[in-house]
Amino acid sequence: MENKCDVLIVGAGTTGIPAAIFASERGANVTLIDSAEKVGGTLHLSSGSLSAAGSSLQNKKGIEDNPKKHLDESTYINHGTGDIEKLKLWQENSADTLDWLLSIGLEYPENQPVSAAGHEPYKIARITTPAGGGKTYIPILESALMEKVNERKCKLRLNTRMKNLINGPDGAIEGVVVVDESGSEQNIYAKSILLACGGYSNSDELWQEYHSRPKRVYTYKHSNGDGIKAALKLGAKVDRKDNLITTFGGTVDIDNVDDYWIHTLTFPAIRKPWEIFVNNDGKRFFNEEELSQDFRERTIMNQPDWSCWLIYDDTINRESPSLFRWDDDKIDRAFKSHPDYCKAETLDELSKKCNIPFDNLSTTINQYNLGRNVNSDAWGRQHMPLPIENKPFYAIKHYAISVVSFGGIVCDNNLKVLDKNNKPFKNLYAGGEMLGMGIWGNAYLGGSSVGGCLTMGRLLGQKFLNW
Ligand SMILES: Cc1cc2nc3c(=O)[nH]c(=O)nc-3n(C[C@H](O)[C@H](O)[C@H](O)COP(=O)(O)OP(=O)(O)OC[C@H]3O[C@@H](n4cnc5c(N)ncnc54)[C@H](O)[C@@H]3O)c2cc1C
Repeated sequence: MENKCDVLIVGAGTTGIPAAIFASERGANVTLIDSAEKVGGTLHLSSGSLSAAGSSLQNKKGIEDNPKKHLDESTYINHGTGDIEKLKLWQENSADTLDWLLSIGLEYPENQPVSAAGHEPYKIARITTPAGGGKTYIPILESALMEKVNERKCKLRLNTRMKNLINGPDGAIEGVVVVDESGSEQNIYAKSILLACGGYSNSDELWQEYHSRPKRVYTYKHSNGDGIKAALKLGAKVDRKDNLITTFGGTVDIDNVDDYWIHTLTFPAIRKPWEIFVNNDGKRFFNEEELSQDFRERTIMNQPDWSCWLIYDDTINRESPSLFRWDDDKIDRAFKSHPDYCKAETLDELSKKCNIPFDNLSTTINQYNLGRNVNSDAWGRQHMPLPIENKPFYAIKHYAISVVSFGGIVCDNNLKVLDKNNKPFKNLYAGGEMLGMGIWGNAYLGGSSVGGCLTMGRLLGQKFLNW
């Protein structure tokens, strides 16, 4: 069976849905496919923070902001490592994206916008996070999309995975080969093709190839890098993978050991530290009270294996405010079942379980206790309520984790995919994490991915896509 349309969008997620809505509105006959059984993509997992400068929400609160200030602050946070034109593309258009979302029914808590959400704070409050996180966007976007589907301006095909792009005789991209849930292959031909199928954060293969590291992520299972692989086969190129920066302090989810996410409260603005962090050599490597997320995100990447251990004792376990986001049953199961959660009667036994040199671990703990006695910590820490001295002793492995991919397909400023000679492919566009979130630089800019992806999708639909 063959199908034809004006615009074929691969990926009904954060980027693809707005692109489909606006391209249909502009009169295109759109086909939107997704390998998943539902629309929404990574928004199903995302925290959903979005940053926008000069938005109506800021205006209401008298917050003075504009895209230039947003760019200046971003350039400060990412040390000038971002793609300025792509930053401008997002930031000059992000307030309109937010206003559009508000116009179709998105609501934010009264206290929004704020200046920080999980990453290095901005000076100006420009981040909005819906109460229900990323999932909140989905019914609102889906209902706007279904209007277009019901008007027969857009065809939505779920459980349909793109396998390859079809290359025409003159080098133009003519369509895609898809596989549906029955396993049968079909070609879909289109005048324009948009790859909006997310990043490679769930691909072991691309993690190894681009970062020479094991994949330690919390990510949408369809983020397999399919779009990147398909575009590479035709001669596109990948860039910005060296801008990778990770999130500090993920731990393994014992009920789904492929998921590494934030299950403990180790960020001092939320819970002051009672424990210490040591690296795999048994040495402390920063002041656990450090408030700069950017510093924390970087420092763990300088440790062997990009991992470390949180160490504490029985008294801290009983007297400190709750460390875990889990209930007691899950915490108990973790220490009984998973080697990343260790409990031992002696420090010697603990060091063996964690594979940390005993001498180093015991020296580190002694030094911490001694420094605490005289209120003079070697790393300058002030909050040291208890020594680490009473059995049983505990250690929890923490990792540098990732939720997005940083490398991606190189595109021009109209989001046309470029080949190795920087020449745009005819008819081929890309948007969202396909470009690699390294376009925002070697740092996390709060709300850049959700805001950037929705904005790219909107602009693609409203003006970039041609057919
Ligand atoms: C836990 C978590 C928290 C996050 N929190 C934030 C945050 O607070 N703020 C922020 O800015 N960013 C955040 N992010 C990142 C942000 O959510 C993503 O970068 C963004 O949603 C990606 O959008 P996208 O359109 O590129 O991909 P997606 O939304 O994932 O859409 C891609 C779609 O393509 C489909 N697809 C994939 N391969 C194929 C194929 N071969 N054929 C057909 N369809 C395919 C997928 O099923 C998916 O529906 C977070 C991410 C995670 C995982």
